Amino acid sequence: MTDDLLARHRAVLPDWMPIYYGDDAIEIVSGSGRRVVDGAGRTYLDFFGGVLTNMIGYDIAEINEAVQRQLATGVVHTSTLYLIRQQVELAEKIARVSGIPDARVFLTNSGTEANETALLMATNARRSNQILAIKNSYHGRTFATMAITGHRSWSSSSLSPLSVSWLSSADRLRGRMAGLGDGDLAEAAVDDLREVLATVTAGDVAALIAEPIQGVGGFVAAPDGVLGAYQKVLNESGILLIADEVQTGWGRTGSHFWGYQAHGVTPDLITFAKGIGNGFALGGVIGRASVMNAVPAISFSTFGGNPLSAAAGNAVLDYVLSHDLQANAAAVGTIVLDGLRALDLPIVAEVRGRGLMIGVEFVRPGTREPDPAATVRVFDECKAGGLLVGKGGLYGNVIRIGPALTLTEAEAREGLAILVDAITRVD
Ligand code: PLP
Repeated sequence: MTDDLLARHRAVLPDWMPIYYGDDAIEIVSGSGRRVVDGAGRTYLDFFGGVLTNMIGYDIAEINEAVQRQLATGVVHTSTLYLIRQQVELAEKIARVSGIPDARVFLTNSGTEANETALLMATNARRSNQILAIKNSYHGRTFATMAITGHRSWSSSSLSPLSVSWLSSADRLRGRMAGLGDGDLAEAAVDDLREVLATVTAGDVAALIAEPIQGVGGFVAAPDGVLGAYQKVLNESGILLIADEVQTGWGRTGSHFWGYQAHGVTPDLITFAKGIGNGFALGGVIGRASVMNAVPAISFSTFGGNPLSAAAGNAVLDYVLSHDLQANAAAVGTIVLDGLRALDLPIVAEVRGRGLMIGVEFVRPGTREPDPAATVRVFDECKAGGLLVGKGGLYGNVIRIGPALTLTEAEAREGLAILVDAITRVD
């Protein structure tokens, strides 16, 4: 670091805030396209996109112009108690792409708030505080969202406003039932659901919440079709299905615009955030009017959907659709996936993912034991080679790749080469 920013960070921010690269932490001072520059003047290709949030990239003219147009009005903020054109236009666009008939959209500042709101909607609509969640999931940082986050390391609260029952995650089912295809795994997951409903829950359940691909959990996809299979069972007792699309929405998975679409299902509620603001604080919930209108009290947010973030959201969604970034995610994602899958190295247990959401899981050679130390070495080697990637997974043994959906073919090959070199060095 060029100054003592790391020491100042450590002195003033809480100890529990994670920071990448330890004593070699970097400050990102500028960015353009898919590249960023650190405080020491070093350029990196960014394969993590600010944790899948800089979805279009850095310094994008269309988004800058939209934000500057809003700034030029002098109104960054006005209360949502007044009409906000940008908010209404964004909600209309999101409703159109949601797949939910009669959709209502509520805008928030983050994914955590989006999930908190969805829980509020579901528990009110169903008059129940019972929620089904998936083990190893991640849904946010507030009391309620931590209560439905299925791993101790990401959920420090044991005080829960909800009664939560847990379903097995796809990777646990896969581990237990090696060799089974997605159809069989979906069946096993439904047996699990029926068993939990019959033996663990105490009566009426409000909702089941699931990430179509677990993000913080290490990019683990739910078996195709499982959300649809769950919904058939849930419908028998009117239980709602909430899809947490905070990481998987807007075409990131390449094959579909929303992750849930791999499951032949339309959820009752969809939550989103991250990429839709391309860095501006923006998230929200989409749901059928009957569910969204179930909250009796007036409920609104000071900042959610304010003119500036909504202006950014409008520009982002227009960009995603007009440039067909879903198709780009599929095409360049395949280059990275295929390149990594061609690696036949003992430390690589699995290369998985869809579109531009790709995970590489590391184990000790010849075993299934997670190897977080090797993962850190790969992570550091990538940085040394000029590539930023993410780390995650239950045991910290997954490299996560989630660049901007505008990634070019040349950049995909460049990043792949650095990654392959890093893994090969560590193996
Ligand atoms: N849901 C998922 C699937 C996430 O990955 C995250 C954040 O990583 C959240 C919710 C919480 O979003 P935020 O950090 O914007 O509050």
